[in-house]
This record gives sequence, C-alpha cells and structure tokens, in this order.
Amino acid sequence: MSEPVNLLDFDVNGLIAWFAERGEKPFRARQVMRWLHREGCDDFERMTDVAKSLRAKLAAEACIRAPEAIRDSVSSDGTRKWLLDVGGANAVEAVFIPETSRGTLCISSQAGCALDCAFCSTGKQGFNRNLSAGEIIGQLWLANRLLGATGKAGGKDEEGEPLNGRVISNVVMMGMGEPLANFDNVVTALSVMLDDHAYGLSRRRVTVSTSGIVPAMDRLREECPVALAVSLHAPDDALRDRLVPINRKYPLAELMAACRRYLERAPRDFITFEYVMLDGVNDSDAHARALVRLVRDVPCKFNLIPFNPFPNSEFRRSAPERIRRFAGILIDAGIVTTTRKTRGDDVDAACGQLAGQVQDKTRRTVRLAQSTEARS
Ligand code: SAH
Ligand code: SF4
Repeated sequence: MSEPVNLLDFDVNGLIAWFAERGEKPFRARQVMRWLHREGCDDFERMTDVAKSLRAKLAAEACIRAPEAIRDSVSSDGTRKWLLDVGGANAVEAVFIPETSRGTLCISSQAGCALDCAFCSTGKQGFNRNLSAGEIIGQLWLANRLLGATGKAGGKDEEGEPLNGRVISNVVMMGMGEPLANFDNVVTALSVMLDDHAYGLSRRRVTVSTSGIVPAMDRLREECPVALAVSLHAPDDALRDRLVPINRKYPLAELMAACRRYLERAPRDFITFEYVMLDGVNDSDAHARALVRLVRDVPCKFNLIPFNPFPNSEFRRSAPERIRRFAGILIDAGIVTTTRKTRGDDVDAACGQLAGQVQDKTRRTVRLAQSTEARS
C-alpha cells in the first residue's frame, strides 16, 4: 500500500486539486481545511459535517501528522519552547513568545542550514534537510493545540485588528534554517498561515527572515509577499563576506536593490534589518555610520540582536553600553532601532539564536528521549 498523504502538506489549492482527483468538490476541501487548521483536528471521525463516505476515504488514504514535541519548556518570562522531532534523529525548535497584545511564534524551515554564517550554531553544524510544508505549518498547528488556542473567537490586537481568539497573532521564520533556501515548502506553509479557511493571519504579521538570497527575495515578492527581515550584520562587503558567506554570491549593492524591489509589493513599507552585535567585530561607531550610508535609499528599521554565545563560538556579545551607542547613531539618523530583549534565556529560547546551541544538543536530546522511551 502507498504511504498515506499528509494533509498538512497542502495549502487550500493543493487540497482542492487532491480532492478533485478523487471526484470531491472544492467546498469539501475548504471544509476539511477548516477542521484541520481552525479546529486543530487530527481525527477524521470528528469532522462531523463531512460526509461519512468521504471520512472513510480520507482515513484510508490520508493522515494528519505534525512533528511531535519531545520536550516542552516554559521560561520564567512565559516564553515557551518546544523541541520537535522531525525523524532521523533530527529535531528543530519552535518558540512562543507571549506579549501583552500579541503572541509570536518563531518557527524553523530546515533541519540545519547550509549557509554557514560565522556566528550561527545551526550554520556551524551543517545542513541536514528541508522541512516539508507539513512540518513547517505543523509547528503552528501543534503550538495552537498545545496552547489551547483552537476554535476560539473575539478580541483585538494593539493595531485594532480582530484577533479571532488567536493566541498566536504573529509568526516569524527565524528559527533553524534559511527559509528562502526551502522556497516551495515555505510558500505553501505561508499560504496556509494567511488563508481565511486556516489561520487567517495578516501578511504584515508573518515575517520571513533571510540572509539575503536575492533571486528568492524576488520570487517571494511575486508569489507571496509577507513582511521581510534581512540579516545584514555588516555594513561593507569585506566584513559581510566573512560573517555571512552568501554575501560573496549576492553582495550588498545587489541586496539593497532587492530590498527596494521587495518594498514595491511588501505589506509593510519598511524592511527590518537584523544586526547581530559582535564585540569588536561589527559594533563600532564607524560601522554604525557606514550602515546609515548603506541603507540611505531603503526604508527600514533595525533590530539589533545581542550575540548569543554557544560552545566554541569565536565571538563575544557587545557590551550593553556599546549597543546603546550604536543604536543611538542609527536613531539620530532617523532610523527606528530596537534592541532584541534576550527572552527565555533560562530555556535557551532567545529567539534569533533559536537554532543556537541546538543541533548537537538536539541530537543528544532526541537520542536521550528515544532511549528513555525504549527503557520505559
Ligand atoms: N536563516 C535566516 C533565519 C534564521 S536565523 C536568517 O539568517 O535570517 C534568525 C536570526 O538570528 C538571523 O538574523 C541570524 O543571523 C540570527 N542569529 C543566528 N545566530 C545567532 C547568534 N548566535 N546570536 C544572535 N543572533 C543569531
Ligand atoms: Fe543559516 Fe540563518 Fe544561521 Fe546563516 S544565520 S547559518 S542563514 S540559519
């Protein structure tokens, strides 16, 4: 018998096409989409308004499978982190960060990453594989269930948009992996996030973070424009070549031009530049002034990320006073600049480093979890 199809791998058009091959109407696919994602349902028998014959067909040919949480930790500040088994002794992480008027889920797009940025522990440990669309959207599906957030209604967020009971109002793809290197699966998952039959998130509240794969930024602009964060980390090519090696392929002038093109279609009228603060490497006043010149023609905000150290990393975090002065130079030039709070430190969940420290420990944890299971 062939493997059951995972319905979490489909966006609404994919599900409509799969239903059509089985002689089922589009509205049936939409109905099932709502059960899957609005209700967080994983049991065809519970889909009570779906015809019995169709439920039986689905049970025979399909399944609803999200990554499994093998560890669930809550930080003292409410940040919650899940370690998710994606098979083959690989695990990725998803982190939920509750704030007063929004809840942000940070999710992963790949197990490992091939891009090898100098300060990133995921990069240091190499590429394992792309996550499927179902494994990507499955992180949101699972978090919603574990947060008890399915099937609710009501409430408004800080910008007056209806929350429709959403505990998770924002999704950022800042976990493990380079989302734009897993383009098709990421776009399918994004389309489910935005779909009114599923999560109905606003495009402005879904953020893809990229190290700057220029052609894929152009494709994203065409196929699924959402909010964009670009990992800049250096104001000139010589330094960026060293910190973010993909810069050798797509240098800063091309990256800045791609940012400008992206803004023509973006749901937000600025790009967020992420900038990791590395002591004595990219954090001087001169670097800040060079940044101001670099981004002169790109409407943007800056998010400074204090470096999160990991074992054997060659960098140190910039001192708080240095970060304040650096931010001051950007702010004086009229650029909105925030410094990322390190949250969830006690569970290693500081988002942005999410991957940091993970893979090695992850492998160990998976093995541990498996051996514990085997023993019990
Ligand atoms: N691959 C994508 C998204 C995942 S990383 C990207 O690079 O943008 C999310 C953010 O965390 C990126 O800005 C990344 O550069 C940053 N980051 C990676 N390792 C870090 C570390 N050790 N400390 C602080 N930020 C880190
Ligand atoms: Fe990959 Fe992003 Fe880490 Fe660079 S910073 S290695 S692109 S996950």
